[in-house]
Amino acid sequence: MNGNVVIIGCGIAGLSAALHLARQNECTIHLVSDMMSERSQSCLAEGGINAAIGPGDSPELHFEETLETGCGLADADALMAMVSAAPDIIRELDEWGVPFVKRANHSVSVRRMGGQTCARTAYTANGIGRQIMDVLIQQARRYEAEGRILRYTNWTFRALAKHDGRVCGAWLGHLDTQEMRFIPGQVIMACGGLNGFFGNATGSTANTGIAAALLFADGVPFSNLEFIQFHPTTLRLKGKNLLISESARSEGGRLFVLQGGKPYYFMEDKYPELGNLMSRDVVSREECLLIKQGAQVYLDLRGLPEKTYETTLADIVSDCILFAGIDPEKEPIPVEPGIHYFMGGIQVDRFHRSPVKGLYAAGECACQYHGANRLGGNSLLGAIHGGKTAAEAVLCSEFSIPGGFSEEKPPVPLRYFRMEPLQAIMRAGMGLERSKAQLENALNAVEKVSVPDEIRLFSRAILLSAWNRTESRGSHFRSDYPECNPAMRKSSVVQFCDGEIRFSWEAKP
Ligand SMILES: Cc1cc2nc3c(=O)[nH]c(=O)nc-3n(C[C@H](O)[C@H](O)[C@H](O)COP(=O)(O)OP(=O)(O)OC[C@H]3O[C@@H](n4cnc5c(N)ncnc54)[C@H](O)[C@@H]3O)c2cc1C
Repeated sequence: MNGNVVIIGCGIAGLSAALHLARQNECTIHLVSDMMSERSQSCLAEGGINAAIGPGDSPELHFEETLETGCGLADADALMAMVSAAPDIIRELDEWGVPFVKRANHSVSVRRMGGQTCARTAYTANGIGRQIMDVLIQQARRYEAEGRILRYTNWTFRALAKHDGRVCGAWLGHLDTQEMRFIPGQVIMACGGLNGFFGNATGSTANTGIAAALLFADGVPFSNLEFIQFHPTTLRLKGKNLLISESARSEGGRLFVLQGGKPYYFMEDKYPELGNLMSRDVVSREECLLIKQGAQVYLDLRGLPEKTYETTLADIVSDCILFAGIDPEKEPIPVEPGIHYFMGGIQVDRFHRSPVKGLYAAGECACQYHGANRLGGNSLLGAIHGGKTAAEAVLCSEFSIPGGFSEEKPPVPLRYFRMEPLQAIMRAGMGLERSKAQLENALNAVEKVSVPDEIRLFSRAILLSAWNRTESRGSHFRSDYPECNPAMRKSSVVQFCDGEIRFSWEAKP
């Protein structure tokens, strides 16, 4: 393949795709993002990255536990490819210099995270996301110096350009100068999650979700938008929730509420086998029940081995001290469930191709690995593997800019708007527990808020996806339909077509 590839987003998924393409030396890569790689959400990842490299583990077990956590909605073929590739991905990252914590025999050490029966999560002493990103950024620089990767930092995605229904390039807008630029080529979306639609999330506020909304308004189908993971241990700050990573619980952290002045360790009491390490939706809902009764939930990190505070929990300790004035070595941390991860996204197949020819998606903006819920440690893996797979699919496609194609006039930029009122509506409609009445209130409110049409449309698509799923499954809990309905083991698909939002179900084998 000779030509251009445009990648929107330079977090782990975008960099992984760019590096894979650059190594093949068959195309010019245009790496676009509204912020530099060092500021992407990927740099925030703390817990680790999954691969079946520990004792007693296997890709098959990794597959089964991921599928089970996702309540049968993950794409099984895509998932099998991801878990099979995982050990090699860790080996590669290790060779490139990611400073994984090691065992005495120099092999990469793994620890257990929630929902896993085996230790499966490779980790670094601090900031796994930052450590992986540093290595990928360094590799990308070599190709940037050679002119194989061209960076467009401070540029935001504005629109796809299409010819005969096929994507032929992307329009970008410069954030400072407002200049519009067209780049021809196939397009890989790697623009992260939908934090901007909700606010108070643990992730980056730079991930506005606007790129996704523009794609949706342009007819690109999305899948499983109702599935939003709440992380059970977040600390409320102003405008944002600080993540207290699951590693805190895998290192021995315990959740409790005060009952009669004494700590009651509710997870250990109710779930003796996995206790504090039950999957995130289970822990979050248990917390919700207690919060509704007026209790404050605490995470207790006191009394752990001294070295843990200086090594594996060093980031958590310093974040709590710096941002909330709480020293976890001495006092328990008040926590609550907070929005953390979007399982749904652009509909793609196992090769990361969207149904729109020439358009691909990888990382948190895509949909296929997690189903109804996500195992901690699987998203960094999905972003790296997904970026590579999308790049491979691009290389395998026979793409050429069609004769007679000429770039049309630039799209009109979205007018300026404030997101906060919309975020409050979306949080109220799409909380940890949803109901028909709650979702309909939010749908009505969305009609009245002052936002561009594309933003309103996509908000409606998210709310309708939750409204249509009249069951509880994984991270989606409907208080009016509290049971899982086996007949609904299907992925939702939502698309804007002929001026209306259309909804369908995709059955799972
Ligand atoms: C606090 C925290 C801790 C986490 N810990 C872990 C962990 O331990 N293990 C794990 O597996 N997962 C973890 N996750 C999840 C994981 O970090 C993310 O899912 C993953 O990094 C997403 O990578 P990505 O490349 O898809 O997106 P991101 O890293 O979010 O990158 C998105 C890119 O798109 C760009 N962008 C966005 N919108 C536009 C636009 N309109 N135009 C142009 N560019 C745009 C952004 O600037 C950025 O470059 C954590 C998440 C959080 C928030």
